[in-house]
Amino acid sequence: MKQYDVLIVGGGSGGITTAARLKRADRNLSVAIVEPNTDHYYQPLWTLVGAGVATVDETRRDEAKLIPNGVEWIRDRVASIDPDAHTVSLEEGGDVGYDQLVMALGIELHWDKVEGARDAIGNGKVVSNYIPEGAQATWKALESFQGGDMIFTAPSGQIKCGGAPQKIMYLADDYLRKHGLRDKTQITGGFAGTVMLGVPEINATLNQIVEERDLHMKFRHELVRIDAARDTAVFVNLDDPDAGEIEMHYDFIHITPPQRAPKVLRESKLAVAEGPHAGFADVDEHTLQHKTYPDVWALGDNAGVPTAKTGAAIRKQAPVLVEQLLAHRAGKQGQKSYEGYSSCPLVTGYGKLVLAEFEYGNKYKPTFPVDQTKQRWDMYMLKRHLLPQMYWHGMLRGIA
Ligand SMILES: Cc1cc2nc3c(=O)[nH]c(=O)nc-3n(C[C@H](O)[C@H](O)[C@H](O)COP(=O)(O)OP(=O)(O)OC[C@H]3O[C@@H](n4cnc5c(N)ncnc54)[C@H](O)[C@@H]3O)c2cc1C
Repeated sequence: MKQYDVLIVGGGSGGITTAARLKRADRNLSVAIVEPNTDHYYQPLWTLVGAGVATVDETRRDEAKLIPNGVEWIRDRVASIDPDAHTVSLEEGGDVGYDQLVMALGIELHWDKVEGARDAIGNGKVVSNYIPEGAQATWKALESFQGGDMIFTAPSGQIKCGGAPQKIMYLADDYLRKHGLRDKTQITGGFAGTVMLGVPEINATLNQIVEERDLHMKFRHELVRIDAARDTAVFVNLDDPDAGEIEMHYDFIHITPPQRAPKVLRESKLAVAEGPHAGFADVDEHTLQHKTYPDVWALGDNAGVPTAKTGAAIRKQAPVLVEQLLAHRAGKQGQKSYEGYSSCPLVTGYGKLVLAEFEYGNKYKPTFPVDQTKQRWDMYMLKRHLLPQMYWHGMLRGIA
């Protein structure tokens, strides 16, 4: 059985960033990443793919080129994890042993929870920026849209990038205004939540945008079914489920699928048992170390910590996790602490963005000496041009 000092499961944003930082900190560490996919995507740009600003191609790189030097890539899928035995079972390659395990499996899209949704993606009216082909479908449908009913959904429960369901709504609104189609279009947001965003300073701006642009928000509305034959979306009101199903006609619907913890994690001993983070890795919110298995760590979307699941969060989590993990290996206590930083670049139109940055407790924590609660062109440029470069050349190389 092969054995590694650190075994990382999942080679997405969190897995690659952690591997790069570990090797920079200690070249002699034996590190392996288990990742089945040969494509690696920069998902934050899928919002702009849906709006016709970027292409899917631009968001993709070969995984092989991103695996840091000296790190072994195990091209396989994790089937199960046994934290008592310090082993991971692979679907094809048998068992692998570890001293330290880093969980970076992301989040699972739970399409089956919305009957008819997955099959309808790409039929010209039903789209989703949450998968690359779905983001392409968004742009195709927007480009050929001639007016009518447009719906945007957001499910209950944990999702990655909580702002993504509304970013595409603002972009579509802006697109229709620029093309003289807004007067012919009704835009509705069927969102399961109760507010646009949990950070009060930013929520105030978003409420104003919604009001000014005549976007009809229906909160506590959960999408349960797509009847593609009748172009009908079926919702339930979470505050009044006995009232029965609510049908809405659409000519265009953008779906954000419900999401849940990855299967291997939620079925392992490493998962939180119940509550809002049920199924996600049960790690300390400041050290990212597992609460009962001290040789296990987690970051990114699969970590059960009370903050928004974003790549931006990973950028702040990875240095903490690596420092804490190496200190633990040396029998010491790490010094760094993760304070829940996450960020949501809320694109509110072509060339406009409100940059929400916050820490645990939805505490507003702006980076720049400008008013980030307002729609800004410079912040849009940051998202469109700077952040992708920082991701590929800085974060994934362990230097940003
Ligand atoms: C439309 C959209 C817009 C977004 N916008 C933003 C934004 O503006 N800003 C921002 O910061 N973030 C944004 N995000 C979120 C961001 O992309 C994610 O939070 C980030 O990619 C999470 O990284 P991760 O490593 O946790 O998961 P991922 O990057 O998804 O990687 C998980 C990896 O685990 C692998 N895996 C899964 N199961 C197994 C298994 N059994 N065995 C082995 N490997 C496995 C997968 O193949 C995958 O490569 C957006 C996401 C979407 C979809």
